[in-house]
Amino acid sequence: MTDTPVDAEIKTSEFDFEPCFEIHEGEARSGAKPGFEGLLQDAPGCGTSVVNGLSQQLIHQMNLIVPDALVSFDDLNVELEDAAFPYLQPSAKLGLQKAIQERGKKMHVNSAYRTIAQQLLLYRWGIGCGYSIVALPGRSNHQSGLALDINDHLGWKRYLENHGWEWFGPKDEPHFDFVGAVR
Ligand SMILES: [Zn+2]
Repeated sequence: MTDTPVDAEIKTSEFDFEPCFEIHEGEARSGAKPGFEGLLQDAPGCGTSVVNGLSQQLIHQMNLIVPDALVSFDDLNVELEDAAFPYLQPSAKLGLQKAIQERGKKMHVNSAYRTIAQQLLLYRWGIGCGYSIVALPGRSNHQSGLALDINDHLGWKRYLENHGWEWFGPKDEPHFDFVGAVR
């Protein structure tokens, strides 16, 4: 892997704003377990881990169509929430890896890549699950493989920003976007 600039043709500015903390709280409260009977549209709310099997298959199929479009960062020093899939675009992973190495601490990840199935459910559930704003499926920056929601954002900010990641700001505290070259 080389220190190349962002390999995304998609720019994070093309995505809609979502308050990620609301989604994490809903996911955490839901107690959702993978699997249910019926169609995707009938999935019980409010946790997207109910479609973990389908999400896993979607990620696998995507990587068959475009090899290494997304790479797992499960091998880094991270702890993941139940509905969080540890996938990013390769350059974003490299930046994350360097930030974690530099700080020398485990990172708690609430969300990274979100599949179209997860986004569809969040969009349908919406306010009923306490999600005040959910982007249309396809419009969430978490579908780019360039976004990350974490705990202890203030502690991590400087390290992530050293390596191509940008903090979204106080409107969405846990959220970082990968925006550029890895130093
Ligand atoms: Zn986010």
